[in-house]
Amino acid sequence: MFVLFGLAATPGWANEVEDEERAVERQQESDGQATAGDGNTDTDKADSAVADDPAEPAPLPLPLLGRQVEPGSFATLHWTPDQSFASIATPVPVLVAHGDKPGPRLCLTAAIHGDELNGIEMVRRLMYELEPDQLAGTVIGVPIVNLDGFRNGSRYLSDRRDLNRYFPGNKKGSAASRVAHSLFSNIVRHCDYLVDLHTGSQKRVNQPQLRADLDNPDVVAFAKHFGGMTVLHSPGVTGMLRDAAVKKDIVAVTMEAGGPNRLETEAVSYGVQAIDTLLENLGMRKASRFWSAPQPVFYESEWIRATQGGILLAEVELNQKVKKGQVLGTVTDPISNTGSAVIAPYNGRVLGMAVNQVVHAGFAAFRIGEEKTTEEVEAKAEKATREKEQKTQPSEDSPAHDSSAPEPEADRADDLSQAEEEESHSEE
Ligand SMILES: [Zn+2]
Repeated sequence: MFVLFGLAATPGWANEVEDEERAVERQQESDGQATAGDGNTDTDKADSAVADDPAEPAPLPLPLLGRQVEPGSFATLHWTPDQSFASIATPVPVLVAHGDKPGPRLCLTAAIHGDELNGIEMVRRLMYELEPDQLAGTVIGVPIVNLDGFRNGSRYLSDRRDLNRYFPGNKKGSAASRVAHSLFSNIVRHCDYLVDLHTGSQKRVNQPQLRADLDNPDVVAFAKHFGGMTVLHSPGVTGMLRDAAVKKDIVAVTMEAGGPNRLETEAVSYGVQAIDTLLENLGMRKASRFWSAPQPVFYESEWIRATQGGILLAEVELNQKVKKGQVLGTVTDPISNTGSAVIAPYNGRVLGMAVNQVVHAGFAAFRIGEEKTTEEVEAKAEKATREKEQKTQPSEDSPAHDSSAPEPEADRADDLSQAEEEESHSEE
């Protein structure tokens, strides 16, 4: 049904994720101006989700990582993050399906945190079911970004830094910052869209969900393409890949599914189905499995913290609806047997939670989401855009990814990142 990417020569895909009506309007306008309006009515567009317009120029070979990928072909390339000396550097595999037809370029990154395995399996399943001769556009998949962490079963890089706090990176910065810069400049900046795949971290599990900056209308429109997957408003923090990407006009979201250090087939299948739906909605191909794509449900959310230290025992389950005042769990001091309850502050749903464990006071135990309607979310995004436009005069084309700006996080103590993460609970 979505035909928004039939216009091969239109520059700047990134700004063109829109809902169907607006896309059709634009299509009609530009049909009038450019190519002959060949009776392209709504009805005959509807059955050509994968554009097959003879007037469209065939895609060119894609130059990436020192290679040329021919249209209609699949390639395995290698990215070498230049953090170590060349003789021992291990190249990271990058899978590319370059379609025969023009279309957007979608990037999938997984295991930026080396212990988050579900995304690796999602990228494998997705990439190997693509048929480049049937594909409109290009899919670039990096199944294991943090190869060192993956080998060690660790979230972090080998210097114990969290890679997802250093984007877009700096080629003269810390080791982590250089890896980030290399990934960003060699791969990510070639993408129109990015889905960064994660799981919950540190003994917390998440209901499969997208994290997206719902103050950004392009991101809102993109998030609606994933079928019925829950979407959580999360502006992101500086240094995260999706935040850095959005700042460069690459429309990006994070997908969270399951927990670290394990492979959860249900979470993997759910994620694959959501991205299959995305490919269909972007007009890149017809989905192999039909998901009747209900509207996504949007949430604002907050972590509810333990007020004392002790043994945390949950009384609710993931995805359960809870009422204001309901006991979510208890924390009990195992020696004095004094305890307290963690209480839901408003009606909502459990979107993330800690597994039962020993916690300290202030530990973020339950993430409770409050449902928002699509209309509320869109109105808010439009308002945020207007406010931003009023504040900043348009100063287009900021000077590329190779930023010489100071790098605030480069020099902090190694284990500070974990403490800060504990503080912000962004997890991604
Ligand atoms: Zn992660």
